[in-house]
This record gives sequence, structure tokens and C-alpha cells, in this order.
Amino acid sequence: MAQLPDQDLLASLVDTEFIYQNSPSGYLSILPDGTIIRLNHTLLNWLGYGEAEILYQKKFVDILSKGGGIHYEMFFRPMITVNGNIRELNYEILRKDHSSFPALISGQGIYDKSGKLQAVTLAITDITQRNLYEKELLKAKEQAKSEKERFENLAEMSPEMIWTINGEGQLTYYNQETVKYFRVSKKALSTHEIFSRIYPSDKIKLLRKWLVDDYVHAHFTIVLRILNTSLTYEWFKVNVIVPEKYTNDIKWFGTCSSINEHIKAMKRKDDFINMASHELKTPVTVLQSYLQLMQLYPVPDPVKEFLDKSLYTLKKFQFLISSLLNVTVINTGELTLNLSVFSLNNLLEFTIDQLRHTTSTHQLILTMEEKQILVKADMERISQVVTNIVGNAIKYSPAASSVEIKLNYNTATCRAHIQIIDFGVGIAPADINKIFERYYRAEVEKSKPGLGLGLYISQNILLQHASRLTVESEIGKGTTFSFSLPEYRQ
Ligand code: ADP
Repeated sequence: MAQLPDQDLLASLVDTEFIYQNSPSGYLSILPDGTIIRLNHTLLNWLGYGEAEILYQKKFVDILSKGGGIHYEMFFRPMITVNGNIRELNYEILRKDHSSFPALISGQGIYDKSGKLQAVTLAITDITQRNLYEKELLKAKEQAKSEKERFENLAEMSPEMIWTINGEGQLTYYNQETVKYFRVSKKALSTHEIFSRIYPSDKIKLLRKWLVDDYVHAHFTIVLRILNTSLTYEWFKVNVIVPEKYTNDIKWFGTCSSINEHIKAMKRKDDFINMASHELKTPVTVLQSYLQLMQLYPVPDPVKEFLDKSLYTLKKFQFLISSLLNVTVINTGELTLNLSVFSLNNLLEFTIDQLRHTTSTHQLILTMEEKQILVKADMERISQVVTNIVGNAIKYSPAASSVEIKLNYNTATCRAHIQIIDFGVGIAPADINKIFERYYRAEVEKSKPGLGLGLYISQNILLQHASRLTVESEIGKGTTFSFSLPEYRQ
């Protein structure tokens, strides 16, 4: 068992006089009439008096502000007399130089055997710092409150749904527009309720985004469908960000903008284009057959030249129609692949050779690995991708004289890498993620012919091959498009 400490030893270790004099609190003893009879060094230092100037010379009220003095007479003294003590009263203490500081004062009466008050001992704590902190805290709270109000006022005026979610996944704020869409009372809306109204397959998309993009980039955007009160789904673009300094209340900050009309308009456009391109396809094919038939007959040279030109123009027209039809196929999820095993080297050589006939301005420089790389893919579709990208490389580099096409093999990943490099106008950073959207064309490039579909189709073809088209570009310097395919091994 541990031995009890030696009391004498302990007493010698604790110098009570030193502790009294140098305590972080001020100590003061006064007679019942308020005359100061003792005080410690700490308080003397605070007050700025010499000991002789204050002991038996000053009364307690002399070191209190005017209001404090009145309070002392009306409240402090009677309380000490009746209760024997007082706790943590707030007074302003006056220094010798007439400046003052805020203090908390506690007091204890000392009585003789007959119960008569002999003296009062006071402990004084300087709370200047604490007051400053409190003021700062109050200011910060008020600022946060007014910022919150400002944000909520703005949010209430917005035509978008705006909301905040805390770290536990609970909604901590949502604006009137959100209440209107979900038609629930202000209290009833929960993240669970919102989630239950999202279109089933979009839910999975959202969760994936939330888990991956939110974690990695602290923000994400997603397009999804939410059920309205008439039980139909409407399209929204949802933006979610994690503010740099998030609080208990706000971990995620989100907006939902309605894009229903835009999506409907896109659908109408797609439907029209689909119908028109189908209607055009048959007469163009018939026209082509007649022109090809006419080529079989002996005709004068100028007519032969006109026939060739007509067929060439018709081919371009057919390419446009097939691009439009491709979009329909992609949109309806009907893009199927016709897989076969072939040499990527041969396919590139053949495709680039064909493309060489279409340009007199650019040299197409093809460099390939010695090794024949076999892939299992849709040969025609891959050729279509290369044709699209090389076509763009030529179209968007009018001042350049060459386009480079490279085929490399990565032994670590066993993948074939294809790069198409041009030295043209480049793509602005603001456009780089949008160029794969259908019908998107960078503003600066609208003078060049095109439908804004080539990259959309190419990206979808590669996605179907579990690959992806990536792009690096510098304005005025040029652009490199790349994609890769796994080597086929038996
Ligand atoms: P289109 O060429 O018919 O407009 P695409 O889908 O092929 O459609 O390309 C979309 C947009 O991407 C183009 O309008 C152009 O702004 C930009 N773009 C594509 N390729 C290049 C390139 N090699 N250099 C510069 N801009 C490009």
C-alpha cells in the first residue's frame, strides 16, 4: 500500500506566502468599513500603487468606478453582512493612473467568536482578456448570423432549389423553391425523402459521384431526374460543393437547376434529326445508285468529271447523314459493336491512306511500333474514330502542314496507345470538357463546317469498347487526342 505523505515535508514544499503574493488573482482584505488592510503583489501591480499609498489609506470604494461604488454600498456590503459571502460580481477596478479594468470579485466575511464581522477577504480576477474573447466571439457570431441571413435571403429569391447538408447527411437548410417542388412542409423534408424521389438508375450514378468525385475534388455536377408531385420525372442539373471551411451545419452546399425544358428541346431536336436523316437516307442512296450506273456508260470527259464530283459530294452528304443516325443509335443505347480480331497497325495504315486522298494541305505522318498489335474491337468503328479525329486535326490546323499519328505499345499494361497530334488552333480550357457533348462546337470554331457530333460519337464508340478519348491542348500550339485499346491475346 502507498505510504501517506509526510505532512511536514509537504508543508515545507508549499510556500503559502509566495503563492498568496504571486497568485494570478489579486487578493485584498478590508475592514467592515471598507478600509484596505492587506493586498497581494499581483493586485498592487495591477493597481499601480505603492503599498504605503494604499494600506489604511484607501477604502475599497476608492478603487471602484463610480457605478461600482454605488453598487458596492447598495448590494455588496449588505450581502456580505447577511450572507457572509458573495460570488463573482462584475466590477470595473480603477488604477492609480485612472485607467480601469474589468474584474470578477468574490468575497468571504471573517467573523469573531460572537459572529461579528471582522473583515472581508476578496479575490479579484482580471477578465480583460476574457471580455475581449467574448466580444470577438460575439462579433464572429453576429457576422456568421448576418452572413447566414444574407445567404438565406439570396437563396429564397433564387429560382433554383438550394440546400445545405451537414456531416451526418441531414438537411440543415433548404429554400422555398425546394419546398415548392417537393410539396412538403418545411419540417418534413429530409435527404431520405429527396433521395427516394430520384430516378432509380440516376440514384446509383449520384452515389458513385458523391463517393468518388466529392471525395477527390470536393465538388461535382450531375444531371438527374427527380419525381415531381404530379408523379412525373423532371430533369435537373445538380451542383454540389464542399465549402473550404465547412461548419457543423454545412458540409455540402448544393443547387438543383431545372433543365427539363432544355432536355425536352434537345429531345425534340434529336427526334426531328432522326426523322429527317432517315427520310434523307433513301433518296440519297437511290441518287448514288443512279450516278454509279451512269458511270458505267461512255460519256464525254466533262460529264465524267461532273459525275465524279457529284459522287464525291454525295459521299460527304452520306457521311453527315450517318453521323446523325449514329447519334440516334447512341441516344437510344443501341450502339452495338461488331467485334473481330484484327491488326491495329493494318487498320491504321489503311485508314490513314484513305485520308491522305482527302487532303492536299496536310501531310499525315504515321509512326507505328514494329510489332503487330492485335486487338478485338469493331474495326469499322475504330476506323471511324480515327477518321473523325484526323479530320478534325486537319480542319482545325489551317496554318499547319502536318498531322502526326502515333501507335505505341505499353508493355506494362499490354495496351496499344494511339495519339493524333496536330499543330493547330488548340482548344480553350473552358471548352475542353464540353467538346465531347453532342452538338457542342467551340465558339471560335463555328466558322468551320461541322455538326459538333464527331467527338460525341467517337467518345461513345470508345466507351463502348471500355476505353476513353482524352485530350490535351494548348491554344495556338495544337491538340493531342489519345485513346488506348487492350492487346488481344489468345
Ligand atoms: P465538329 O468538328 O463537327 O464541330 P466535333 O464533335 O468533331 O464536331 O468537335 C467538337 C468541337 O471540338 C469542334 O467544334 C471544335 O471546336 C473542337 N475541336 C475538335 N477537334 C479539335 C482540334 N483538333 N483542334 C481544335 N479544336 C477541336
